[in-house]
Amino acid sequence: MAKVLCVLYPDPVTGFPPAYARDSIPLIESYPNGQSLPSPHAIDFTPGELLGSVSGELGLRTFLEAAGHTLVVTSDKEGPDSEFERELPDADVVISQPFWPAYLTPERLAKAERLSLAITAGIGSDHVDLATAIERGITVAEVTYSNSIGVAEHTVMQVLALVRDYIPQYEIVIGGGWNIADAVSRSYDLEGMEVGVFAAGRIGRAVIERLAPFGVKLHYNDRYRLPADVEERYGLTFHDDIRSLVKEVDVLTVHAPLTEETRGLIDDELLASMRRGSYIVNPARGAIADRDAVVRALESGRLAGYAGDVWAPQPAPADHPWRSMPHHGMTPHTSGTSLAGQARYAAGVREILESWFAGRAIRPEYLIVEGGAYAGTGAHSYQAK
Ligand code: NDP
Repeated sequence: MAKVLCVLYPDPVTGFPPAYARDSIPLIESYPNGQSLPSPHAIDFTPGELLGSVSGELGLRTFLEAAGHTLVVTSDKEGPDSEFERELPDADVVISQPFWPAYLTPERLAKAERLSLAITAGIGSDHVDLATAIERGITVAEVTYSNSIGVAEHTVMQVLALVRDYIPQYEIVIGGGWNIADAVSRSYDLEGMEVGVFAAGRIGRAVIERLAPFGVKLHYNDRYRLPADVEERYGLTFHDDIRSLVKEVDVLTVHAPLTEETRGLIDDELLASMRRGSYIVNPARGAIADRDAVVRALESGRLAGYAGDVWAPQPAPADHPWRSMPHHGMTPHTSGTSLAGQARYAAGVREILESWFAGRAIRPEYLIVEGGAYAGTGAHSYQAK
């Protein structure tokens, strides 16, 4: 029987369960590329419930305990005295969400002698040291596509919020004010702007599709070019390098995984080559941007705005400079964990566990590392080209 160690974010400060704003979530039948939704044999939760916090338990307890497994759920993940590190040595399976990542560093993996499966409840497994997972033969899986459209929606929201300067206008209203000149002094229309999408995978492609109707001119960079008919449909200009992409756009959105190639890519030099008054929205990973270079670019006016929902590390400390830098529209890491997103990745985790315990293959689209090598989605997106 296995011990499953699950690290989830803390419950709402107002108590669990929260008062839900709606009674249900829409039923989605398949993903845009035809991939089927998670299909576990059963679920023990109502879609639309809060599943990603400790008391939500990703809806897994009944299923795991009925099969004789042990489930430990905690949000206490930092440092050697954390419950996570104390429980790790005899854990067979670790589940963690990128929003509240349980970093599986080489040191921690060395202590996790029994670990054979690390599941990302969501997308993005950079919190796991993949090289060590490969060396140790640990399987790493994530729930590909579960929250991609939600992240694309969040991206579009933040692009509009920055360009139209929504947040200061909202604050004027809350403060009882009505100075329209103040409210519009940094407000522009997105229409007619040039928008660059860095990495046109599931999320980047959905951003392209959603931004096209705004009357923007779209550019993109990816390691592999999109089919010619797709480029034509959205009027896309392809750049074979991010450096050429950023020079020609007013807005940059970032959707690549965090790898050795993308870590620190948005640095002083890259930012200096952008048009004055550019905007960046990065919901991919915080460490793709150099933290202090972003602050400097906002202070100098090179950037007119920066938004996204990903930070390094997470949770961001109270004095993280991105909390207080000018003209930002940051959220905590929420775009992939709406109540609808949670229902899909909780079902996906259940599907992965059902397969694992039954000795069946995990779907290739969920695999990042298996059998000592990158596999499935991981072989395509995480491996150096
Ligand atoms: P995909 O794997 O579908 O897309 C990633 C794309 O990035 C692929 O097209 C890949 O290229 C491309 N890519 C990888 N490295 C480079 C590079 N060096 N230069 C240019 N392009 C590159 O993933 P998703 O779209 O689903 O997710 C993207 C990322 O978004 C995730 O890795 C994760 O970090 C983040 N994410 C954030 C969430 C949030 O809540 N904020 C939720 C979900 C994901 P190719 O495969 O063609 O080689």
